[in-house]
Amino acid sequence: MLSFQGRVVLAILTSIPIYNMAIYKWPQSLIKEGDAIIRNFIWTGDPTKRKGITLRWEKLCKPIKEGGLGIKSLKEVNNVMLCKLNWIFMRREEPWSQMIYAKFHTKSGDRIKYHKSSSVWPGIKFAEPITKPFIGWIIGNGKKINFWRDTWATSIPPRERIDLPNHLWKLCTTKVSDFINPDGWNFPTDISLVLLAMGINIFSITCNPNSEDIQIWKPDIHGDFSVKNAFVSTRDRIDTSWWWKYTWLQCLHPGLSGFAWKLMNQILPTDDLIQRKKIQLVSICNHCGLTAESTNHLFFECNVGKVLWSWAISTFNIAAVAENDS
Ligand SMILES: [Zn+2]
Repeated sequence: MLSFQGRVVLAILTSIPIYNMAIYKWPQSLIKEGDAIIRNFIWTGDPTKRKGITLRWEKLCKPIKEGGLGIKSLKEVNNVMLCKLNWIFMRREEPWSQMIYAKFHTKSGDRIKYHKSSSVWPGIKFAEPITKPFIGWIIGNGKKINFWRDTWATSIPPRERIDLPNHLWKLCTTKVSDFINPDGWNFPTDISLVLLAMGINIFSITCNPNSEDIQIWKPDIHGDFSVKNAFVSTRDRIDTSWWWKYTWLQCLHPGLSGFAWKLMNQILPTDDLIQRKKIQLVSICNHCGLTAESTNHLFFECNVGKVLWSWAISTFNIAAVAENDS
């Protein structure tokens, strides 16, 4: 049977985006089932068998530097693939996106409030709040940009800063081009003051009246969307773990890396952890017989452990590292 490390490599290989996920939002139940199969396989080698002591799936799916294994969950893959669909949709260059836009928006650019059936729209709609803060514009003549509803000035569209009833928003159809003349910005002073009150200094934004507007993916240096960049930009980050570079040293046997990774994530099945899972057992350290077995005792407090550490440190001429050293 494959080792833990082997199964992890296989799981990483299987998180290749599935074509179907690029278009449809998968139901929660299906994603959960798929992720459970991958998770069980990693821990037990059997997709149908759960293991008692594991790391939370969300933590496991974090990058190596954040203490995870760099696996991509089906949920993340689906989300980011839908971000790509939303990005293409927002550009409104393809006939399908123009058609879907017209079907689900009013003339002023607001989303319709009643139901219309579509297999594709739920995915586009779902990804919108994820992608919106990352979409920006290189403003050309302003003709493609909805003044109120697009993120052309800040990551929040001006519409979301003002509380107006929907029937009045219907009247707000201004395009950014309405404030651009051949020489550049053409804002009446009072409007630019109102924008300033919203935190938008219009004169810090450039426009090029002679060119087309270009939609950009802000996190990318060239403004291009890529699934890889969207993965990095849209995910929740946690602090970098101080120990990752020690557990994944190239010179370590993969089995040892996996062991060290489990140790640092405190999921080695020592007696104290098993007891915390409400499984009753009598615990005694097999080495010194003086106290109960715990990860901390085995590796740092036990006299036998201490002797082994000092032997290893002097024999291999290595230095011990602790969290504060990094
Ligand atoms: Zn001991």
